[in-house]
Amino acid sequence: MSDKKLKKQTLLLQAGRSPKDNFGIVNPPVYHASTVTWPTIADLEHANKTPYDGVRYGTRGTTTTFALEDAVTELENGYRSIAVCSGLTAVTAPLTAFLSSGDHILMVDSAYSPSRVFCDSNLNRFGIETTYYDPMIGAGIEALVKDNTKLIFLESPGSLTFEVQDVPAIVAVAKSRGITTIIDNTWAAGTYFRPLDHGVDVTVQAVTKYIGGHADLIMGVITTTEEAYLPVKRECSVLGIHAAPDDCFLALRGLRSMNARLALHQEHALKLANWLGGREEVARVLHPALPSCPGHEIWKRDFSGSSGLFSIVLKDGYSKQAVTAMVEGLDLFPIGYSWGGYESLIIPAYPQQSRTATKWKSGPVVRIHAGLEDPDDLIADLEKGLARLNAAS
Ligand SMILES: *Cc1c(COP(=O)(O)O)cnc(C)c1O
Repeated sequence: MSDKKLKKQTLLLQAGRSPKDNFGIVNPPVYHASTVTWPTIADLEHANKTPYDGVRYGTRGTTTTFALEDAVTELENGYRSIAVCSGLTAVTAPLTAFLSSGDHILMVDSAYSPSRVFCDSNLNRFGIETTYYDPMIGAGIEALVKDNTKLIFLESPGSLTFEVQDVPAIVAVAKSRGITTIIDNTWAAGTYFRPLDHGVDVTVQAVTKYIGGHADLIMGVITTTEEAYLPVKRECSVLGIHAAPDDCFLALRGLRSMNARLALHQEHALKLANWLGGREEVARVLHPALPSCPGHEIWKRDFSGSSGLFSIVLKDGYSKQAVTAMVEGLDLFPIGYSWGGYESLIIPAYPQQSRTATKWKSGPVVRIHAGLEDPDDLIADLEKGLARLNAAS
């Protein structure tokens, strides 16, 4: 397919498009489809022999979908990818693909909160038991494995608190016990960490974040090894979840410039994180590239860079009212969920509300997304915010 001598970024730009087959036009066309027709019954029957390949029906995707899937496969170094309608579906569909009633799953305590909710509500309702584990557990996860443990779910770094997991150590345990591993790789954007290279079976991303990159689309993508592909693809087909063609086009467009955007997000986030780390209002900066973050040494060993999202822990004693005064008055950091767009964002976070395997106790946590704005402007805005924090205390 592709020339493996080329560098990753070059392959990423070439994947999923063929101008010579498309009137010389650079980007692939957007095909909208529900019905797909066949000239003869023989053609129809032939197509039905490979139900998970090629253009079959709208929900199975069109060549627009496949173009995006091929490009993400290059990015994640996988066998194949499946685009689905949201990042959350990219988490939940592989879970139900591999789990059955009576099974047990080990779920990281710092997971994206809606992923936890799915385990506690839906999986629980279908007789699947979840045990949450400390994100820093490493090889110690062996002690939590039961005879019916089918799956270990990882997310590294963790949502809100950014603990970097020892993925190779956990994968080694999983492999020795025949357990499937799935990782949420959204923070690293498939770029700064490649879980499949470390033996993980399935890696998922919210395309909504850095691949989309412009806060205007919702999508997820699942990339697997050859062995894990069919079970996940079948599950997505059975559930009827698919990514809309116009959104696939937007995602592909975002993907082509992602590397350049990520480099700036990285630079700006590091600048803000280092500046905040020097402020007396801040107790700790939770950014994987800083030594104050749990798992920083693992990040140094396994990651090739960092993206734009991190948290700060303010010193004990600042009231909710003071934090609100700081956050509400910012000009360049609107308050909002989701991230990965070109714009900066801020949101107070409450990890203590969702942890069960570990106890989170600290001063107020504030999560920041460093956008593409000039970082000096961002710092000046935060400086005024910290002045409001102090004034309101
Ligand atoms: C945002 C996010 C998701 C979910 O993505 P949506 O497209 O909003 O459903 C999943 N995992 C992580 C880590 C996220 O940040």
